[in-house]
Amino acid sequence: MNKFVELGLSDLLAKKAHIQGWREPTPIQQKALPAILQGRDLLAIAQTGSGKTGAFLLPILDAIGKKPALQNPAVLILAPTRELALQLYQNVEIFAPSLSLSGALLIGGVSILRQKEKLMERPEVVVATPGRLLDHVRQKSIGFSGIRYLVLDEADRMLDMGFLPDIKKILSLCPTNRQSLLFSATLSDEIHLLAQKLLSKPVLVEINANRDVASIRQVVYRVPESEKPRFLRDLIVDNALEQVLVFTRQKRTAAFLADSLKKDGFTVDALHGDKTQAARLKIFQSFKDRHLRVLVATDLASRGLDIKELPVVVNYDLPLDPHDYIHRIGRTGRAGAEGLAYSFASDKDSYRLSAIEKLLKKKLEVVTPEVFEDFFETIDEKKKLKEHSAQPFKDKKTTLKSRRAPIKRFDKAHDKAKEKRDRKPSGGKDSFDYILPEFE
Ligand code: AMP
Repeated sequence: MNKFVELGLSDLLAKKAHIQGWREPTPIQQKALPAILQGRDLLAIAQTGSGKTGAFLLPILDAIGKKPALQNPAVLILAPTRELALQLYQNVEIFAPSLSLSGALLIGGVSILRQKEKLMERPEVVVATPGRLLDHVRQKSIGFSGIRYLVLDEADRMLDMGFLPDIKKILSLCPTNRQSLLFSATLSDEIHLLAQKLLSKPVLVEINANRDVASIRQVVYRVPESEKPRFLRDLIVDNALEQVLVFTRQKRTAAFLADSLKKDGFTVDALHGDKTQAARLKIFQSFKDRHLRVLVATDLASRGLDIKELPVVVNYDLPLDPHDYIHRIGRTGRAGAEGLAYSFASDKDSYRLSAIEKLLKKKLEVVTPEVFEDFFETIDEKKKLKEHSAQPFKDKKTTLKSRRAPIKRFDKAHDKAKEKRDRKPSGGKDSFDYILPEFE
């Protein structure tokens, strides 16, 4: 018997899931699906990539499919970003028609008029970002009296983005006679508080983030900051990586890196908050359609992106918040598939690396490429000296000299590597100076 049917899902949706290639329910689906079908409120701690969308959408669709007399919209799904809302909506479009149900997507940056027309058709499911939903409330194009199911997806992110007042307003408009589901990647005090307000006797489902990333091979390369663009380019070329999602902390780094890769002949674009919504959606779609080989994205712009079968992600730098590291690498190795996450750590990143290792509760594999060995050796020596130095103040001359030393030594190492590279035929794996695992 189909495993989804065993969990209580209808044959129709179970078949549709099977067609999507969902052979078995993921852990979050196994735990959440029966609870939702029983009508329980739910607090789910799960990452994007765990299959959480299916975990709430399938049972909700099944439930409303069986209650034809509902006033519409009966389901309200809130997401923090437009990209995430779009992805959620794409799932609605896949599954809802099997049960003769329909949906509307209410996000900013696109025509509100078209959305109003869609709402006039009284869809059962509304997927929205808080800002645009409230625009519709103000323009009286949506009513909440029919809402029976309320989902807050990536609630922690919504709070981070300052949506709490909007959420409170939306909650005050929804009928109390409803089933509420709260999904969050982390269980912070704020999420606890929100859960207390929103949920009634909820079932708590927690999917261990560390286990989720277990299927992802993680390698950290020590790379000097200035060498990162070249290292990235070589990594992509020498490993013949078909598609790479690259993360940066800052918008300007993302823009700079995309420009630099474009000059090297890559099909590449950057996804960050300075781009218009329409541009962001277009870029994201074009990466999904494989028209772009490289997508450079900031943490905020990339949150929740769902790209199927993405084999490699690269952390061009390490995020300030170690949870963002898990979100970033969660873009690969999705729903059980194997993934590979490379991180570039310069000497500035070492304390961030420790924070990530603490969160993951394990040491990561750190590789210093041969070409940079001298450079980091000098830095490590300097650090050790500093740590063990009983004398806090050195004379000015020595400090300046030791500051310049690593650059000189690095130049030498760099030249050595260049010589080696020039001697070998270009493009092949042999021409690569860094040790990389085989990429399949
Ligand atoms: P989500 O965590 O909802 O963003 O889902 C991440 C990815 O996993 C999406 O591409 C889904 O299509 C896929 N997915 C969801 N459920 C399953 C499943 N049971 N088996 C395989 N893939 C799944």
